[in-house]
Amino acid sequence: MPASGAWQYPLAAMLRNLCDAHNHLQDERLAPHLPDILTALPAAGISACVVNGTSEADWPRVAALARAHPDLIIPSFGLHPWQAHQRSPDWLDLLTEQLHAFPHAGLGECGLDRWIPNHDLPEQTAVFLAQLDLATRLDRPLSIHCLQAWGPLLDLLRDHPRPRRGILLHSYGGSAEMIPLFAALGAYFSFSGYFLEPRKEATRLAFRQIPDDRLLLETDAPDMLPPENLRQHPLTSLDGKALNHPANLPAIAEGLAKLRSIDPDQLIALTTNNFHRFFR
Ligand SMILES: [Zn+2]
Repeated sequence: MPASGAWQYPLAAMLRNLCDAHNHLQDERLAPHLPDILTALPAAGISACVVNGTSEADWPRVAALARAHPDLIIPSFGLHPWQAHQRSPDWLDLLTEQLHAFPHAGLGECGLDRWIPNHDLPEQTAVFLAQLDLATRLDRPLSIHCLQAWGPLLDLLRDHPRPRRGILLHSYGGSAEMIPLFAALGAYFSFSGYFLEPRKEATRLAFRQIPDDRLLLETDAPDMLPPENLRQHPLTSLDGKALNHPANLPAIAEGLAKLRSIDPDQLIALTTNNFHRFFR
């Protein structure tokens, strides 16, 4: 039997066409598993994924993956708020170079985060606004991370030009009330497996309110793990910690379909359509 485990997928799964709007295949924790992951993705019915860089240090790995797997991977380059303080003086020029090298690349992951200790919101804001401006000028899909900063993010997006094609609020954890406000600014919202944890009830209720044409699926692999019973592909780091395998996406799709009371195949068709509209 092949080590990839491709035999264990039902035919229905292989005929599906799922798209992962946000992951980090370049993450060093996934490196030892990457050959198996790249086999497991098509076998699980995943036809495309957006690989998000987070700092100057990982952009070359994102670029290498995108060059090696052009049919599967859409690269995205950005400076994550957790890495904003480590940027070099040339970071914006280097980012612009990557975007010119990959005309179909997205910009991100970038954003605002007041959850991490010792956050510097003014610095994060300056770094985010530079990326918002660049994405707008080049009309690239902008992938935004936001934790505990939804009000400031809404104000910034309202007050500045945005990419014509819209923006993505990845792993949207804001309130249900803010959904129409962000949607009016062109936002898409992606659902990750972590939101299927029992205690994330409020987030699940919010995801029922998202308009059909703004809904996306993501894994955020290797992070944002789905509950243990939904991990179709258990994965562990070299130091023994559980990791999110990006081929867990079908379970996430099924969870979201159940939540929105629609057929999983319908949900997949809908999110895949949204994916191609936003990212292509
Ligand atoms: Zn991420």
